[in-house]
Amino acid sequence: MARSRSPVGLPVISDVEVPLYLGDVVADLRIVSRNRLAEVITGGLSFPRKMPCPSWGISAARCRIGQALARREGTVCQDCYAMKGTYGFPAVQAKLEERYRGLFHPLWTPAMVFLVNYYCDHYFRLFDSGDLQGVNHLRNIITLARHAPHVQIWLPTREYEVVRACAGELPPNLTVRVSGHEVDGPPPSWWPTTSTVTSATEGSEGVCPARDQENHCGECRACWDGGIANVAYRLH
Ligand code: SF4
Repeated sequence: MARSRSPVGLPVISDVEVPLYLGDVVADLRIVSRNRLAEVITGGLSFPRKMPCPSWGISAARCRIGQALARREGTVCQDCYAMKGTYGFPAVQAKLEERYRGLFHPLWTPAMVFLVNYYCDHYFRLFDSGDLQGVNHLRNIITLARHAPHVQIWLPTREYEVVRACAGELPPNLTVRVSGHEVDGPPPSWWPTTSTVTSATEGSEGVCPARDQENHCGECRACWDGGIANVAYRLH
């Protein structure tokens, strides 16, 4: 295992793949549902004020593509919102790191199945911070989505190759929204659901309205809606 330091001081664990879950979800749900074990394994869900649903994420310092982009001028990651503000608080980073480490637990997938079914009525968001940690991670999320069919899951990502590897496996309740890398750049053309970042300050059609409604989604569910091709976010 190779270790170095991330930009926010987290130890980077490289050459370690998230284990692919191939277990019996129904049997494992009986284990993770006891004694708050699902929370212990996953670090639990968060409940962002902006969102109409719970969320789960890891530190942006764990973004594989994002950390490379952060060194390039003009990219969305150069001034990442999830690397500043309250995200920089040690307690917040410690919680996000706890969630990252949970990915390597063999029962992470059934633990997430339990939490999403328990806490989510209709919607769930992944990665308000952070990104996919490889193909196995996305396949585990696909298993999660298949075991929570009443919940629409929004997964934003810059991990293009991971998405391509699993393109034919995504269930309809998992909206993978592939993010464009450049501020004011075009959306990725190879995927049906995308997001971009605009430097425009005014709201318009196709632009996230949250800023005009007290930083809250309100009635909008565009990010989860697989029928909406692109959502543009204004710069944070
Ligand atoms: S586009 Fe809509 S659903 Fe997405 S973050 Fe903005 S307000 Fe929320």
